[in-house]
Amino acid sequence: MEEVLVNKLASIVGEENVKNDIIDRYCYSVDASIYRSIPDVVVFPLSTEQVSKILKLANANELPVTPRGAGTGLCGGAVPLEGGIVLDLTKMNKILEIDLDNFCVRVEPGVIQNQLNQELKKHGFFFPPTPGSKKMCTIGGMISTNAGGMTAVKYGVTRNFVLSLKVVLASGEVLDLGGKTLKRSLGLDLIQLFVGAEGTLGVITEALLRIIPLPEETAVIVAPFGDISDAAKTVNSVLSCTIPTAIEIMDSGIIKAVNSYIPELNLPEVDAVLYFEVGGTREEVKKQIELIVETCKSNKSRNVQWTSDPTEKQMLWQGREAAGGAIMNLDKRLVRVYEAEDVCVPISKIPEMVKRFQEISKKYGIPVCLYGHAGDGNIHSGVLIDVRNQEEWGKLKNLTREVYETAMSLGGNISAEHGIGVLRAEWMERIQGAGLEYIKRIKKVFDPKGILNPGKLGM
Ligand SMILES: Cc1cc2nc3c(=O)[nH]c(=O)nc-3n(C[C@H](O)[C@H](O)[C@H](O)COP(=O)(O)OP(=O)(O)OC[C@H]3O[C@@H](n4cnc5c(N)ncnc54)[C@H](O)[C@@H]3O)c2cc1C
Repeated sequence: MEEVLVNKLASIVGEENVKNDIIDRYCYSVDASIYRSIPDVVVFPLSTEQVSKILKLANANELPVTPRGAGTGLCGGAVPLEGGIVLDLTKMNKILEIDLDNFCVRVEPGVIQNQLNQELKKHGFFFPPTPGSKKMCTIGGMISTNAGGMTAVKYGVTRNFVLSLKVVLASGEVLDLGGKTLKRSLGLDLIQLFVGAEGTLGVITEALLRIIPLPEETAVIVAPFGDISDAAKTVNSVLSCTIPTAIEIMDSGIIKAVNSYIPELNLPEVDAVLYFEVGGTREEVKKQIELIVETCKSNKSRNVQWTSDPTEKQMLWQGREAAGGAIMNLDKRLVRVYEAEDVCVPISKIPEMVKRFQEISKKYGIPVCLYGHAGDGNIHSGVLIDVRNQEEWGKLKNLTREVYETAMSLGGNISAEHGIGVLRAEWMERIQGAGLEYIKRIKKVFDPKGILNPGKLGM
């Protein structure tokens, strides 16, 4: 990048907040996906005003700008495909206001999910959306991917908690949208347009989020099944009588992986295990435990365990929380590649999707293990390949296509919560149909020169 532009950026944010040596730039060439591309410069703004000035400069010079939170995204959303500026928002990390009378919290985009909840806990409140990456991911990243996670089955996804947003457009103009009311019927809702936009329409610099009181008590129930299809059917039976906070599934491959990763957990090596979390008053929790345990037993689960003891709960959850990382332990010669990893199907189709996954894995000779947020029909797959073998990449592409086509044929979709980014960009036409043309026109309205996160979402 021309020195004069780097100097102008430094005059906006200060020299210490501009990095343009190759080592720093290289560190910002990746997120948690397989993609990489080196930016020309990394800039750390400290305020909305600075973001606005940076975007004005970038727009005038037609420089690509890729907003970035913690870089835990799994589909290349924060990878600067066309170089230019990576706008790292992690230094904008203040909790600006906690308004308990109106059940909301105002934050900057770089606040980390878990840090926000640690702070809210002191007041007896919490912000429910809980991705597996909660200890790293930022609120800006969560809003921009409409993150979900374990508690979505009861509380909903990030979208359901955004009350207002401050957004800087490509031109540098600042939009202040929404407010503290819990309801509004005011025509088209621009806030919801920015949720899930993956940084292609504007940069989020502030958000007002709904929060709710912590439940008096929570409990965890773990139910092992000799046949994964019984576990899959149990999800439907449980949801017909009660809505737990979380319903998570792990198949035999993941159980093996977790046991080799954390041997002291010693999970039963069965075909599948379901994890439930319930919360509410003591009486509500007791009743939910009874209902869920009975339902699991009547669906052939044996040795169902449950606990409300905090240490035991943490111990039980550890297994599920380690699942994503433990997969690589299954065969150290293979690498987990995030492809076909986030499909979502209607609840009644979970047993069918699980069966089809197993058939597709066998057909291509690629090991696939399953886990995820079964209560939402959201199945994560851990796909393992020998990355040195070109043929395996070809098989993986075909496997992914078949998984997506299967999910769609069952009335589902190709990503429940991770997003499109680069990974699924080529699928946009198939999933959006005629709608893609209108999406492209919306993009033009907000970002006529196409400087914001180019190459993402098929735009
Ligand atoms: C171990 C692990 C577990 C995970 N579990 C889950 C899960 O359970 N549920 C789930 O939903 N996801 C999960 N994820 C995916 C990821 O953590 C989420 O997508 C998360 O919301 C990304 O946050 P981030 O701060 O890392 O964003 P980044 O990866 O930095 O960015 C994600 C996207 O948001 C855009 N963006 C970031 N900040 C802004 C901003 N302020 N304004 C505009 N655009 C912005 C970026 O350009 C990019 O397109 C997991 C990832 C890992 C590595």
